[in-house]
Amino acid sequence: TSNVITALNDYIAPRRVSVQLSQSRYEVVIGSQLLTRAGALIAPVLPQPRCVIVTDETVASLHLATLQNSLTEVGVSHDAIVVPPGEASKSLRTWADLVDKLLAQKVDRHTTVIALGGGVVGDLAGFAAASTLRGLPFIQIPTTLLAQVDSSVGGKTGINSPHGKNLIGAFHQPIMVLADTSVLATLPPRERRSGYAEIVKAGLIADAAFYEWCEAHAPAMLDEDSHALAEAVERAVRFKAQVVGDDERETKTNNGRALLNLGHTFAHALEAETGYGQGLLHGEAVAVGLVLATHLSAALGHCPQEDTSRIAAHLRSAGLPTQIAQLPVERLLGHMKQDKKMRGGRLHFVLTRGIGQAFTSSDVPEEAVRATMLANGA
Ligand code: NAD
Ligand code: MG
Repeated sequence: TSNVITALNDYIAPRRVSVQLSQSRYEVVIGSQLLTRAGALIAPVLPQPRCVIVTDETVASLHLATLQNSLTEVGVSHDAIVVPPGEASKSLRTWADLVDKLLAQKVDRHTTVIALGGGVVGDLAGFAAASTLRGLPFIQIPTTLLAQVDSSVGGKTGINSPHGKNLIGAFHQPIMVLADTSVLATLPPRERRSGYAEIVKAGLIADAAFYEWCEAHAPAMLDEDSHALAEAVERAVRFKAQVVGDDERETKTNNGRALLNLGHTFAHALEAETGYGQGLLHGEAVAVGLVLATHLSAALGHCPQEDTSRIAAHLRSAGLPTQIAQLPVERLLGHMKQDKKMRGGRLHFVLTRGIGQAFTSSDVPEEAVRATMLANGA
């Protein structure tokens, strides 16, 4: 069928999205079966035929050998450093240990660090690459859907502090990103659904046609239809690449990169309350947040109320939560006031005028946020 043919095309000629920044440019290569030929795909951008792979135990057991073989095949030498899986690895201790191991392996300024894993490995390895010898070249091979559509693109790297999440870090752009949709086959379905929330978010922010495409194709995508997945990853990456290219370091006060935080003020508060990496997965918190942000926008008269139920229905059909029983409203407001994105004591939100029409607002009345959480979406 035509699906098989398009999937075959993705295999033969991977999709390429380029991220254009003020000082540099890199490509995100998207397709199936890329890991088996990763060596050949990345060799042209390597400053020296030597890499150190950073990955976690789970990904190592599933996919590390494939990457190592592909590097050996093209004569690139490689070492591997394996960290425990999970958010706890984004710590000062794991980072210090990782930098220590990189130095013990006598890396030089031209040795490339490859992050093979989800957002945790990408953020941690990226920050180790940024800080070791004042910056090593860095390649992302994201293995979760969330990392493929979100964390691997844009150059934000970092770790957590006892004071909060992602408070220590650097902008460090990769020299290439390789998003192999085939590796998602081993991803637990719950992780896949969680990543899907960030794909839907891209449509909700700025592309109503893409949102509608999501409504039509979510079942195929979540069912691992490789062509639908590659298409979704490409569209979400294209969107993020454009936003990041336009506002590399999130310095714009309006819109710009901050738009990527649609649903995230609520999501971060929910995650801070339930404990990061416990209870809710990030994408699950984002799904609830997307519904609450739309609800808040409707309550403030910016968008039609029907959008809230339409978005909630779609997210629910994709197996994502859209409501939380008995939200601890005052505690969540407390977390929002501590969010590092809160500037000058005002609550910053991304609101929407409707599907595909998000905008940033720096002055949302606390009372409206409280009322929205008490009503708790649709
Ligand atoms: P994760 O890296 O913890 O991966 C989730 C789980 O899936 C882990 O247990 C991992 O071992 C496992 N896994 C990964 N790939 C797999 C595969 N192919 N098959 C089977 N199991 C696999 O979590 P995540 O959701 O990818 O990333 C979350 C992190 O990303 C958070 O720390 C968040 O702060 C960060 N993040 C960063 C940015 C950014 O711009 N830098 C953006 C969004 C999120
Ligand atoms: Mg997010």
